[in-house]
Amino acid sequence: MKILVINAGSSSIKYQLIDLESVERNAVLASGLVEKIGEPVGRIVHKTYAGGAEKKHVEERPLPTHNEGMARVVELLTDPAEGVVKDASEIAGVGHRVLNCGEVYSDTVRIDAKVKEAIRDFFPLGPLHNPANLMGIEVAEKFFPDAVQVAVFDTAFHQTMPPKAFLYAVPYEWYTKYRLRKYGFHGTSHKFIAAAAARYLGKAPADTNIISLHLGNGCSIAAIRGGKCVDTTMGVTPLEGLMMGTRSGDIDPSALEYVMDQTGMDIHQMLTTLNKKSGLKGVCGVNDMREVIEAAAGGNEMAATAFEMFCYRVQKYVGAYMAVVPNLDAIVFTAGIGQNSQPVRERVCAGLEHLGIRLDPEKNRVRSDDPIELQRDGAPLKILMIPTNEELQIAVETKQIIDAANA
Ligand code: AMP
Repeated sequence: MKILVINAGSSSIKYQLIDLESVERNAVLASGLVEKIGEPVGRIVHKTYAGGAEKKHVEERPLPTHNEGMARVVELLTDPAEGVVKDASEIAGVGHRVLNCGEVYSDTVRIDAKVKEAIRDFFPLGPLHNPANLMGIEVAEKFFPDAVQVAVFDTAFHQTMPPKAFLYAVPYEWYTKYRLRKYGFHGTSHKFIAAAAARYLGKAPADTNIISLHLGNGCSIAAIRGGKCVDTTMGVTPLEGLMMGTRSGDIDPSALEYVMDQTGMDIHQMLTTLNKKSGLKGVCGVNDMREVIEAAAGGNEMAATAFEMFCYRVQKYVGAYMAVVPNLDAIVFTAGIGQNSQPVRERVCAGLEHLGIRLDPEKNRVRSDDPIELQRDGAPLKILMIPTNEELQIAVETKQIIDAANA
């Protein structure tokens, strides 16, 4: 079954076409990124993988709206010479990554008018993403009229958190009137990791207890008990929690008033600073962990401090979540930094030795596209590295909706 996965941003469309039988049996037929939509010149990078060899096509052309961007993607996918499908009707389902639908949907759903209304209703709580996600859905409905359209929410996996974890200690009516609460994000990735860890450990998901560390451009940790999320670091928006590439993570809200008074910034400038000019970038000037580590190795003290701050906050949250996940099976590193950065894993785990997290430096050096174990022989707790795959998770859930509709 061919499933197109779409992640639409305000000026971009990221896509992947997957031929899927099951989570283990699947093949990526094509993937790509349409960007700079609405700018004078847009750009499309389209890749195909016939016979295991990556073939890349790059083009630049004006793409005034998502409509022109998607039209070109359909042309590339169905190109008579280089295409991967004969026509758009071969695509059975389109799975859309959608940021936030709050408490309305706690699982993946087939898109209808009610679902679109709910996505619209959450524009104020996802002002950058939800409108773009809805635009992506409407464009896909036009170009793939025969396909089942499915919404996979970044917040859904975290809906199992209990009130003591998701409520903020503020006037309760902020929750009842304005829906202010911790929603959590990266849910699709944490859900994929929870299932992959259970498979790897040979346990039923309902018996699997892990702490999932999604450390990429954005960073979040989820405490997963019996396969279900009981707490997570991101909040009402993806700004809360860990230190990230450009986001501050946790900060005392009183600091904002103080700095706004000192600088004359308004609240929008302040939030832009916290989202785009903070985190690693705010402390040492660069947001890519590879560059931070390189600069630190070259003697840059602020880069070394940023690295220490990043790892320390991960260490603290793992400690906190060990307190709420009894019978822990494993902590799992994933995403760009979690999968690739040996120094980050080493530093985080060094601070957790006294809690039974004992990293083997040799195993930590191994690179792998498959799950691997990183703990020392005889250590009480497992440390896993599992590559995440949000697109595959979205495709799998889209197929499940289609299969259920056909059953
Ligand atoms: P993601 O959002 O999961 O795509 O992660 C992207 C981030 O992963 C990049 O911005 C880098 O900071 C980080 N990253 C990727 N490869 C490495 C590496 N080998 N060492 C350290 N960080 C890495």
